Amino acid sequence: MITVKNLHKYFDDLEVLKGINAEIEDNEVVCVIGPSGSGKSTFLRCLNLLEDITSGDIIIDGENLTSDGVDINRLRSQVGMVFQHFNLFPHMTVLENITLGPMKVKGMSSKEAKREALPLLEKVGLADKANDFPLSLSGGQKQRVAIARSLAMNPKVMLFDEPTSALDPELVGDVLQVMKDLAKEGMTMVVVTHEMGFAREVGDRVIFMDEGIVMEEGNPEQIFDRPENPRTQEFLSKIL
Ligand code: ADP
Ligand code: MG
Repeated sequence: MITVKNLHKYFDDLEVLKGINAEIEDNEVVCVIGPSGSGKSTFLRCLNLLEDITSGDIIIDGENLTSDGVDINRLRSQVGMVFQHFNLFPHMTVLENITLGPMKVKGMSSKEAKREALPLLEKVGLADKANDFPLSLSGGQKQRVAIARSLAMNPKVMLFDEPTSALDPELVGDVLQVMKDLAKEGMTMVVVTHEMGFAREVGDRVIFMDEGIVMEEGNPEQIFDRPENPRTQEFLSKIL
């Protein structure tokens, strides 16, 4: 589904991604872990062209993002992204937040978009909040709306950037459950997370990033129980 070849990203003189190579298969859940500042968010943002790529290739479902004439709007509708801070539109209801993209980008009628949005709200456990405004929701509910909003575009891949980091601890579980359900349905997912329990249970593969490179990758047992790279060992010893 995704191939990343020798991806480099600079911000001015600062080299943040120093040659990332990665393969993400269809239906796979890949969790990305690593210290703050190691380039995890920048990596995800490149996959969605929220950052321009300095050099290298990213191929998503056969389409090279670096080729001229790539349709950014179409790409973004295929690659959903959920952020740490939910970025909902405060002046729109939950339902309006979800139907906006399909109407604007996919040209759906309001009626059609609503018809598709309601089952998504059910999926994230918020069917009764359709006409509420984001201000009246908890952080966990907002994040579940943000997930439903991404799903409304019918993406091929979902990217999650620390989706539970800004939440009170008691609200984390519901969001992780929604993500688990998505994984079970076969959604291809790349998840930057500090939730090692989630990575172990739901991740098919774990990538450890440090200083802009992939230091180590493997299945969760390899990375969490038998990490080989000293940097991985040091990172895990600090957080586990
Ligand atoms: P992580 O998500 O792993 O914490 P980031 O990808 O956010 O790491 O950041 C990696 C590095 O890139 C950091 O040194 C950060 O300061 C820098 N960086 C991120 N975004 C920008 C930007 N827009 N302009 C300049 N530097 C940035
Ligand atoms: Mg980050």
